[in-house]
Formats: sequence, C-alpha cells, structure tokens
Amino acid sequence: MSTELTLPDILPDPTAAYFPNSLPTLLAVTSFLRPSERPPLSVWAERNIVLSSEYSKRATRLTLFAWQREVFDAFTDPYIEDITIMSARQLLKTLFLQCCLAYTIAEDQGPVMIAQPTDEDARSFSKERLAPMVRDCAALNGLISESEKGGNTILNKEFPGGSVMIVGATTAGKAARRTNRIVMLDEIDKYQASVGKEGDFVTIAVEGTQTFIGSRKIIKTCSPTTAGFSRIDKSYAASDQRKPYVPCHACNHMQVLKWAQVKWDTDVSDELKPKTARYVCENPACGASWNDYQRWAACTRVEWRAHRPFAGKAGFWISHLYSPWKTLSLMVSDWLEKYQDPMQLKAFINTVLGELWEDAGSAPDPEVLYSRREDYPHTDLAVIPRNGLFLTAAVDVQESPPRLECEVKAWGRGRENWSIGYYVIQKQAENGELLPVSSPELWQKLDQEVLQALYQHESGRQLPIMCMCIDTGSTPKPVYEFALRHQRLSFGPAGAKIAAIRTVVPIKGNDDPLRVISAVSKENQSVKRQNIRIVSVGTHCIKQELFELLKGVRPRADGKPQPGCCHFPMYTMEYFHMLASETRIVHEETGDVEYRKKPNARNEALDTFVYNRAAAALVGIDRFTEAHWRKMELAVGINVPYSEEKEAEEAEQAAASVDPSTPPASKAPAPAPKPAARPPAPSGPLPPHLQSAHTDADPQRSGLSPLGRGRKFRGSF
Ligand SMILES: [Zn+2]
Repeated sequence: MSTELTLPDILPDPTAAYFPNSLPTLLAVTSFLRPSERPPLSVWAERNIVLSSEYSKRATRLTLFAWQREVFDAFTDPYIEDITIMSARQLLKTLFLQCCLAYTIAEDQGPVMIAQPTDEDARSFSKERLAPMVRDCAALNGLISESEKGGNTILNKEFPGGSVMIVGATTAGKAARRTNRIVMLDEIDKYQASVGKEGDFVTIAVEGTQTFIGSRKIIKTCSPTTAGFSRIDKSYAASDQRKPYVPCHACNHMQVLKWAQVKWDTDVSDELKPKTARYVCENPACGASWNDYQRWAACTRVEWRAHRPFAGKAGFWISHLYSPWKTLSLMVSDWLEKYQDPMQLKAFINTVLGELWEDAGSAPDPEVLYSRREDYPHTDLAVIPRNGLFLTAAVDVQESPPRLECEVKAWGRGRENWSIGYYVIQKQAENGELLPVSSPELWQKLDQEVLQALYQHESGRQLPIMCMCIDTGSTPKPVYEFALRHQRLSFGPAGAKIAAIRTVVPIKGNDDPLRVISAVSKENQSVKRQNIRIVSVGTHCIKQELFELLKGVRPRADGKPQPGCCHFPMYTMEYFHMLASETRIVHEETGDVEYRKKPNARNEALDTFVYNRAAAALVGIDRFTEAHWRKMELAVGINVPYSEEKEAEEAEQAAASVDPSTPPASKAPAPAPKPAARPPAPSGPLPPHLQSAHTDADPQRSGLSPLGRGRKFRGSF
C-alpha cells in the first residue's frame, strides 16, 4: 500500500466542511491533529458546553450566534496560530476562552496558560468561570479532580494529557516562562507595560510556545483602550483584520455596523430621543432605516471579511451594535448619559463600541491645531503680532541627523504666545555630510541667524530675543561652550534671573509637576562645568499647562488679547504632529502621571514649546504686573494701552447699536490709531533687562529692513 498522499485523497475529506476558511492540506490529515475525529470548535461547543446557571436563568446548552461561529472555529483551524479578539465587553471573549479551554481538556490535550491582568482576576476566572463549567459539562466530567491531591489548586489544574495554569500577568517569572502549547492572554491592555526587570509578560509568554510551532495557539483578547498605547490594537493591526459585514434588508449592501449610522431625533426631549433611535443603511442610494429586529436579522447573515492578507494571524473586531441583548434605544440613552463626561465617554467608546479612544482630554489633536492656524508672517519673514511684547527662543539638540531645532516665541499678557519662527539648523561639510552637533559652525549659525537677529514687531520697532534655553540632553559640551560665550543668568537672593538681553541658559527637563523652573544646579557642581549652572525645567508642569491651554483656549476672531492662547502661523502638519506627540496618561491605581511619546513620533516642537515656556518664566512672565506690560508696550511703540482702546471701541459699538443709521463697526474702515491719551504712569519698576530690551529696536538705528530680516534657513516650516 502506498503511504504517499495525493491530492485526490485529501480533497474529498469530509472534514473539509469543518474548515470553511482553509484549504485541506497534508497538515489537516496528519495523525497528530486527527481532524476527522474533531469537529470545529463551534460545533463541539454547541454539543458539549452547558451555560451554567450562574450565567443564565437555568443551565442550558450553548447556542452560538452567527457572528460567533467563525471566531470559535479559528481555534480549531490548523492554519491559524494567533487569534486576536478586539471586541466590546461581555460579547464574546470570556465564553470563547472557556470553550477553547474545555475543548483542550476534552479533545486536544496539552499544556495551557491563561493569563489575567492580576492574581485576583486569575483567581476569580478559576472560581467563577472554570469551576462551574467543569461541574456542568459532561465532556469534562472526571477529567479535573476536585481535590488537591492530584496537584490541583485554584490556579493550577492537571488533567490527563495536560494541565492549565491560571496566572496574573504581574510577574514574568516562572509562570510566564513555562512551556505551553496554548497561551490565552485575556484583557491584555490591562497588563503592566513591563513586568519589573524581567521584561514584557506577553513577549515572554509567547516565547514559551516556541517548541509547539505548528500546533500552538496564542489568543489575545481585550476591548481597545487609548490610541497609540493599546496592545490589542497593535495585535489586531498585525492580523488579517476581519470585520463582520451584514446585509441591508432593503438593498442587500454589505456593511460593517458603525455608531455614526445610528441616528435619533434631536428636536425632541432628552427622554424621547432614545425612543427614536434607528440604524441607517450606509449606502447613500438606499438610506433605509433598520429597527432592532431588522438589525438582528441582518446579524444572522453575517460574513467576516478580512481587510489584510492572511499570514497565520486571524483578528476579529466586533461591537455591541451586533449584540442581540442591546436595543439601539438602550445604547442611545447610554450615550446621552455619558457623552459629556470624557471618562465615561471613553468607557463607552472602548467597551460598547469596541473602538479606540483618542485621548483628547490629555493630548492635543494635531488636526484641530492645524485647522486654527493664523495667517501672520513667520520664520524668515516674521512679524510679531501687536500683543506679543517680548521674545524667547528654545533649542533642541538632535543627533540623528545632526541638527539644532529652534523655535522663537513672542509672549504677552496672560501668557498669550505666538510662534514666530521654527528653524532647523544644519550645515554640510565639504564632503557633503552633515556636520555633527559638536561642530562650532552649527552653533555659529544659530548665533548669527537666530540669537543675534532682530525681529520685526507690528508696531514698526524690532525686538531682540531676551532668553534662549538650550537642552543639554545627551550632548551637553557644545551647549556649555555656547553658553560661555553669551550672557548668563544672574543669581541673587530671589534666585535666578535674566539681567540682559540674549541670555543663554542650559537646561535639562525633569518630572516636576508643580513648578516651571524646578531647580538650579548648585555652584559647587557648576565648577566642573566652568561655572555654568544648569536650570531644571518641570516638563510635567509645563506640558500639563500647555495641553489645557491648547484644548480650551482658541484665538479670538477680532485679534484681541486672549489670555493663555497659543497662536501658530501657517506651519505644515508636521509641526502639529510634533506638538501633539505625547499623551498624558494617568495611571488609575497610583494616580501617577506619565507623558508617553506616541510610537515613532518626533517631539521636537513639543520640547521647544516647553523650553520656551521656561525661558518666559526666567524673563519673569509669571511675576509681571500690568505696569510691566504697559512699559513693554511703550517700549515697542504702542502708545494706547489695550484697556483704553477697548473702552473706546465698546463705547463706539454701544453708540452704533443705539443709532440704526450708523454702519456696524465691523464694516467701517479700520480706525486710524487714536492719539495717545497720556498713558497711565506705570506703578511698578520695569526689570532692568526689559528697560534695555528695546533700545536697539528702532529700525532706523538697527539699519534692518522693516519687513523681515531676509534671512534664509535650510529646512524650516
Ligand atoms: Zn440599504
């Protein structure tokens, strides 16, 4: 008898029907897998699994929903090694894991590990899920002994031909390193980022399946969490990304159910709104409304469609819109209750819709920032808007490729600020390669083109940079050398202060959540650095302030002062991606705050914002009184204080509203500057550095073009 298998031997195999997504091959008929004896999991589970009375009105045999079948069968599909389930809560995941485990114990034994986020979760899975299932399913009877004599504990169960270990993913020790054929990682977004010094639990657990390549199963489940930080999202992205398509009852158009297609009447009372909920077919030519029964009927005709080619990893996504237990009106009233509270809304998006949360509450949205750019001249042709009264600069030193990224900002009352220019300073050597950041030429360029430049103000005067902060980061030496050649901070009883224009301050960031300027290095430490003292900048404090301002304060359409507003000129999208490159994470258990960079994101513009804010603090922005601002206004040639101008305008508008014959103020031509009423005498002394700040700012005296400085930079925004 020939032992060679030929194609016709395999094709008519009756098990072919059990593998709807796979072609039968040699693998399917090896004696190791014995497929002819084993039905796919969906069939096996309906035959053998009994829903325990703890989870249904009475113990009852399991009947799967149409959309559950393909997910279940992935477990018994010999071509699938890795299964990712990114789904809404209480829809699929736990039942699936239970059935996989039962099948393994009864039919296809081997070592199994089930991981839960904590030891406590592991214990409750064992007691509340595993124990009732073993008790109620005849197929499992007698396979796991109740006593501890057979080596069985709550977290470790032996059965003929295998064992299951249930662990909390809190230590990557012995448990994670055990060799397993089946690894089930439940709720993986809740695992710690890295378990102590031992490394990542998920990576180690997956490594433990190496010896079973070809027959191993790795299952990862969770509802998604925050965009950029979700393990399950990354795992789903690496899979074939299957989505459930269902047909419209009216036009048969196949579609993935989306929350955006759930509509309700908005012109009725809040109480009535949920009652008007319906699903609207996404086909624009159809637009039929579906009621709950039509939606549920559509879900029985589900078809899973992959969005990427299959390479051993199957990924499934599903939301509560497919749930046979949820009516649309229930979901809409849930939404109406939660949508205004970011924390509750996040839970709804993650656990009901099964979608990622873009953490708008803790990271600025680059699209929004981009959309509110203002058209004022910047960078090489910069003109400082009227309310910007002093300038700072910040430099981030980057090694790869070697460059200095520099941003100049103008500051006004209430910490309102304007990005005036963003410069990427690089220099090529004769051989065409970029000069390293240690080369003096690069720093010379920074000096000439940014630090020594005068910047045009809308008033016609020109302003110098008051303070430039430079991150000492990983290459402190050239920063110290640069600082040595320039004006340095002066130290008095009140601490560090700026005593002259163009002061250069080497800084480093720390996690201080409360202070912008966190500390200044002691003099004895500075001896080694030729008396250069380093200012520690509270990056957490500044980022928190920045994120709140970016979220909550928008520029005014009339150009009037807007305290706290951050203004940006027409930079490219890249700038705003850098500015929004980090997300604030508050760890729920400890309350610890962490700023986490999004994967592969560049964050130089965020860093230069932070350093500029520190520079503004060193200039004194947090202590300035109205008298200081008024003096600075006079110094740039603004004679009418903002408060008087506002009063005059309000009076004008009030008059216009009384007399209908007067054209509205907005249509009138821009009023000529009013002759200065005597400016109020400033009541406080202006710091000495500000008194001298604008003395060389007269265009006649500086001899520079009043319309920009005509400088050219390689690579700026
Ligand atoms: Zn339709």
